[in-house]
Amino acid sequence: MEEKLMSILVVGGAGYIGSHMVKRLIEQGQEVVVVDNLSTGHRKAVDEKARFYEGDIRNHVFLKGVFDRENINTVVHFAAFSIVPESMEKPLKYFDNNTAGMVALLEEMRDHDVKRIIFSSTAATYGVPEKSPIEENDRQAPINPYGESKLMMEKIIRWADQAYGIKFVALRYFNVAGAYPDGSIGEDHGPETHLTPIILQVAAGQRDQLKIFGDDYNTPDGTNVRDYVHVLDLVDAHILAINYLKAGNDSDVFNLGSSTGFSVKQMVEAAREVTGEPIPAEIAERRPGDPDSLIAASQKARDVLQWQPQYDDVKEIIQTAWNWKQQHPRGYEDR
Ligand code: UDP
Repeated sequence: MEEKLMSILVVGGAGYIGSHMVKRLIEQGQEVVVVDNLSTGHRKAVDEKARFYEGDIRNHVFLKGVFDRENINTVVHFAAFSIVPESMEKPLKYFDNNTAGMVALLEEMRDHDVKRIIFSSTAATYGVPEKSPIEENDRQAPINPYGESKLMMEKIIRWADQAYGIKFVALRYFNVAGAYPDGSIGEDHGPETHLTPIILQVAAGQRDQLKIFGDDYNTPDGTNVRDYVHVLDLVDAHILAINYLKAGNDSDVFNLGSSTGFSVKQMVEAAREVTGEPIPAEIAERRPGDPDSLIAASQKARDVLQWQPQYDDVKEIIQTAWNWKQQHPRGYEDR
C-alpha cells in the first residue's frame, strides 16, 4: 500500500524516450513525477496524469524543491544531450549537462535517501568495438564526447553506490527508433539529426533527399551498420530494471539492442517498402565520430531481466514511426 503512494521520478520525461516511459508507467497505474527543462523536450509529449515540473537538474534549489514535495522512491534518468556530431563541436555542453547533471541528481538522491536509479547509457561508450556483437564487459573507449560523458556517468554512479548505497541499472542503448503504435507520441527533435525520422521526412516530402554519411566503411555495403530497437521495447526494459532493483538485486549494466544489424542503405530500403515512397538518397561525406558497425549482444538483459523485445522486424519499427509522422507531420506542433 505504502509503495503504491510512492512516485517514480522521470527526469527528461518530456523527451523522446522519457515521454514513452511516462505513458507506459501511467498505463500501469503508477504515480509519476516528471522533471524536464524543455530544452529539447515537449510539454505536449508528457501524459496529463503525470505531475510536471519545469526546471533544470543542475539548479539545486529547484531540484531540492521537487524532492521535498514529492514522495519519490525511484528515479529514471533520461535527461541528456545525445547528438554525436554536436558533441564533437561542443564537448563542454555535454560534460556540463550530462555528467554534471548526473552529479547534481545523485546529490539530491543522497540527501533525500532515494536509493534506486535507472539511467540511459549508450553504445557510444564502447567507441570502436573490439568485437561484434558487443558484450557488456568489452572495452569502453569512447571516440566522441557524447560517449565519454555517458561513460563518466557510469563511473560516477559506481562510486556513489559504494559510498551511499544508491543502487543503479545503467542501460546501454543502441539505436532507438519507432513510436507509440497508436501514433499519439513519437520522435520530434529540432533540428532533426536521427536517421529514421530524417528518412520519413523525405518520405513525407519535407526534405528532398537523404544524405547517407559515407559508403566506404568496413561493412558489407559500405554504409554504417547499427542495431535498431523499438522505443517501447526499450521502455519495457526500464520497467523490468525497476522491478529488478526493487527485488533487492545488485547494481548492474545491460546492453539494449535487437542484436541484429541494419545498414543505412537497408534502412532506406525498408522505409521505401513501408511507406511506398521513393525516398531519394545520395552519398555524402562521412560524419565525424561514427564507428563502422555497432551491434549489441543483448543476452544478458534477456537472461537477467527477462527482457523479451516484441519488435524484431525493422519494418514494424519504421511503421510505428510512420504512423506518428502521418498523424503529426510537424511533430508536436500538430498535437
Ligand atoms: N545517418 C545518415 N544520414 C542522416 C542521419 C544519419 O547516413 O541524415 C547515419 C549515421 O551516420 C549513422 C546512422 O545513420 O551511421 C544512425 O545515425 P543516428 O544519428 O540516427 O544515430 P546515432 O548512431 O548517431 O546515435
